[in-house]
Amino acid sequence: MSFAEMDVDTIWMDGEFVDWDDAKIHVLTHGLHYGSGVFEGVRCYDTEDGPAIFRWDEHLDRLYASAKPYDLDIDYSREELTAATTELIRRQGLESCYVRPIAFYGYDSLGVSPAGCPTQVAIACWPWGTYLGEEALAEGVDVMISSWRKHASSQIPTNAKTTGLYVNSMLAGEEARRNGYVEAIVLNKEGNVAEGPGENVFLVRDGEIYTPGLAESILDGITRQTVITLARERGYTVHHNASISRGELYTADELFFTGSAAEVTPIRTVDDTKIGRGTRGPVTEDLQSAFFDLVERRVDDHDEWFHYVNE
Ligand code: PMP
Repeated sequence: MSFAEMDVDTIWMDGEFVDWDDAKIHVLTHGLHYGSGVFEGVRCYDTEDGPAIFRWDEHLDRLYASAKPYDLDIDYSREELTAATTELIRRQGLESCYVRPIAFYGYDSLGVSPAGCPTQVAIACWPWGTYLGEEALAEGVDVMISSWRKHASSQIPTNAKTTGLYVNSMLAGEEARRNGYVEAIVLNKEGNVAEGPGENVFLVRDGEIYTPGLAESILDGITRQTVITLARERGYTVHHNASISRGELYTADELFFTGSAAEVTPIRTVDDTKIGRGTRGPVTEDLQSAFFDLVERRVDDHDEWFHYVNE
């Protein structure tokens, strides 16, 4: 859905709340030319106790950590970014939303060196439904293996959520959609399974759960961490440092994606090959229910993972 159709009017930018249409940057901004920004994607859920931001602390941790390899100084404290975000959600009367904090090298000069460029920071919130389509959560999605490989973590820190990295995600995702699929799975330089363009990948075989380890050039997804915890609490064996070959995808009992936007989305086919019975599998369904029961606060567990906006 286009921003033009949304009922949102305020963005926090460089310490101030500004009108949505005034949240602008100069066309010679360093981050625009070289992708020198870091960002987060966070969901805030509608609960009985009002809007609750899911794993906000961990997203903030990752935002500051992503900035580190780039020497990008985020001059705002956790408290300031938190106050800005909760105020944005309250002011716009949002019950559930997606939260997008971003920090990037701003306007000063355009050498590749960002020396002299200030760090700009902004936060926006907007309503965002199911990422891969309404049916996707129940029916699963059709994916293809991308012909594009993921950058190796020796080439670029893949554990940092850097704006520039997402041209790779865009290529992979658009290739898939052009070919009639909903999403891609991207292999790493070695040819093992890395992740989706904006999701981590999980595989189920003989009742055990596997997901690629950080050395496979993936982002350490916060939903990935959440699902690993929920699965272990339910007694599943989870191999969180797996190396998964392409072939193992086709013969898996179940596959699913995780991500703040994608939540827990079953994968029903890979390259037109049915995974399991070609529908959402029982382990996926179990973990998906556990996830939605948690984030919509139908259960009390892990209250420490929620930042209630109205507190
Ligand atoms: N991998 C990539 C490349 C992503 O962009 C995302 C979305 N942030 C994920 C994995 C999932 O991470 P998270 O669960 O923290 O949203």
